[in-house]
Amino acid sequence: MSETIHIHPLVDQGLKAGAAGFSGGTLVCKCQQDPVKVRIDASIAHNHACGCTKCWKPAGAVFSVIAVVPRDHVHVVQHGDKLQVVDPSATIQRHACKACGVHMFGRIENKSHAFYGLDFIHPELFEAAGAPAPEFAAFVSSVIESGVNPERMGGIRARLKQLGLEPYDCLSPPLMDALATHAAKASGVLRA
Ligand SMILES: [Zn+2]
Ligand SMILES: [Zn+2]
Repeated sequence: MSETIHIHPLVDQGLKAGAAGFSGGTLVCKCQQDPVKVRIDASIAHNHACGCTKCWKPAGAVFSVIAVVPRDHVHVVQHGDKLQVVDPSATIQRHACKACGVHMFGRIENKSHAFYGLDFIHPELFEAAGAPAPEFAAFVSSVIESGVNPERMGGIRARLKQLGLEPYDCLSPPLMDALATHAAKASGVLRA
């Protein structure tokens, strides 16, 4: 192998299976003092590596790791005053810690969006291990937009496949189908 490819610290050593019966935990930001804490009281779904330029990722990582959880299972429990929305005009309102920059949860407020009701969270922020492993990689080509040399894409896709993270340049087929189904019902070509 000609280069070491760092995808994300959570997956670089191989995927770790989640604990049986995982039902959430507490997300903690990176502040040494007065960290923001967000309690998640449900398991997570669609956990994946994301190559988009909007998701928060730790220093040195090419991808973020992100999953969804129903919004009523997301509770800010400590130092919520440190949270602010990164870009109020974005579809996903990413609530980030003003001090350390970590995104604690992303929320869609548009009730007609296909993913309304689901919040986006970064499982690596759980205080305790045990969250289910990522299942695929989304928006892989987008890492070029964060400065990755296009010539490295073959190596990055090969490494993702080796890890068991099927690379997609949009979302996974089930999620793309969910978006299209929602659009088809909204337009009326598919009966709701
Ligand atoms: Zn913080
Ligand atoms: Zn993303």
